[in-house]
Amino acid sequence: MFLTISTTGTPERPATDLGFLLHKHPEKAQAFSTSYGTAHVLYPEADAERCTAALLLEVDAVALVRRGKGKGRGGAPDAALAQYVNDRPYAASSLLAVALSAVFSSAMRGVCNARPERAVQSLPLRIEVPALPARGGPDLVRRLFEPLGWAVDVEPVPLDVQFPEWGDSRYVRLLLESETLTLAEALRHLYVLLPVLDDAKHYWVSSDEVDKLLRAGEGWLPDHPEQKLITSRYLSRRWSLTRQAMERLELVRLAEADDSEVEEIDNAVEAEGEAEEKPTPLAVQRRDAIVAALHASGAARVLDLGCGQGQLVQALLKDPRFTEIVGVDVSMRALTIASRRLKLDRMGERQASRVKLFQGSLAYTDNRLKGYDAAVLSEVIEHLDLPRLPALEYAVFGAARPRTVLVTTPNVEYNVRWESLPAGHVRHGDHRFEWTRDEFRQWAGQVAERHGYEVEFAPVGPDDPEVGPPTQMAVFTIRTTKEEKAA
Ligand code: SAH
Repeated sequence: MFLTISTTGTPERPATDLGFLLHKHPEKAQAFSTSYGTAHVLYPEADAERCTAALLLEVDAVALVRRGKGKGRGGAPDAALAQYVNDRPYAASSLLAVALSAVFSSAMRGVCNARPERAVQSLPLRIEVPALPARGGPDLVRRLFEPLGWAVDVEPVPLDVQFPEWGDSRYVRLLLESETLTLAEALRHLYVLLPVLDDAKHYWVSSDEVDKLLRAGEGWLPDHPEQKLITSRYLSRRWSLTRQAMERLELVRLAEADDSEVEEIDNAVEAEGEAEEKPTPLAVQRRDAIVAALHASGAARVLDLGCGQGQLVQALLKDPRFTEIVGVDVSMRALTIASRRLKLDRMGERQASRVKLFQGSLAYTDNRLKGYDAAVLSEVIEHLDLPRLPALEYAVFGAARPRTVLVTTPNVEYNVRWESLPAGHVRHGDHRFEWTRDEFRQWAGQVAERHGYEVEFAPVGPDDPEVGPPTQMAVFTIRTTKEEKAA
């Protein structure tokens, strides 16, 4: 039963940093005893360019049975022989997930004292699981991993290579690749999804499993399209626990007090007839402010970077002044929803030629982003870890270099005015930071300075005399040289 985790590196960011991130030294083979056998961690390769860590679990089949946990679902004991002849020793499964969390517990929490800056950064990752029991087959494997930002290569393993007519076994060979995830995120995905695919948990599920699930699912499970299947299978289809988990996930979503939810709350209030006059939701005010600033800039070809579910792209499409609109996001799931919202598949040719959506990470320079009039970063920067921000800054202001860049972000000072927001909380679970007006101005001023832009600021939403507006916007315009102006 094993899996490998590989990364690639450069002389400045050597791949062997993986050892620091996993808290396991690449030059040592180490063994850890767990309740079901021995877990080994070793590095088949470890140099600056490539580093691979392997986790191998040697399952003690007898211990497994003695612990009385080798029973089938529903508590019925398997036939006597089946207790000893089962697939647990070879297949990656919930046991491997347990070993993963035991051996890499700090890494799973994203803790790395030796390389703290690396722990919060995404890195090129390649994870291979040669034999993964997958109830639901390759299709379900894709549905579980792809929305999380993984490129998934999955092949069914034939029951017997000599007899292809026997068909496929319930095992797959799985290869996952990503450039956009941190190691901690990757480990937490595996910790939850390996047993979900296995669908035969080896130990009794108790209510602290709900806690474990919510902890490991933080940041991705509340928005996963297969959330219900994941929750139900992870909790071995115990309905009361599943319901408890689903309710708590719903609370997480609400507590995120995202602006889109503020929008929904506004709508609900109106529906109840409690509001005399419906206030314009902040998300709409923000879109209006962005469209107005784009008009003022004279832009025709516009990038919406971190376009999310495509609301701004949709608004821009309605305005013939914008001849080309490109939405970019790192999340495939967001892009799928965006293309559904825009009805891309049913759009006439002329409209379709004006709009493009593609997946990309703003933390990397991308030639596809060059040559546009304007770029919008609406409520995006706060979703990046602070150490990643210089990479985004370079990709947008240094490499893509549109004439105009609009950046909006929450003004943290305003948070005291949100009634639903507990003190000291950010507005959305995925916000890595929220800035005061001063902090935003400082950052934007330095960015402008470094890359040859002028910057101006505008409030979005009611400008409170004490704490300012809920959203702050910076409008960057490239500094033109005298010759360019003359031309
Ligand atoms: N612009 C939209 C969505 C904001 S939510 C709006 O104003 O409503 C932030 C979006 O940024 C999410 O869709 C998220 O997937 C995307 N995002 C976060 N980090 C990113 C990165 N490194 N590269 C590209 N998109 C990113």
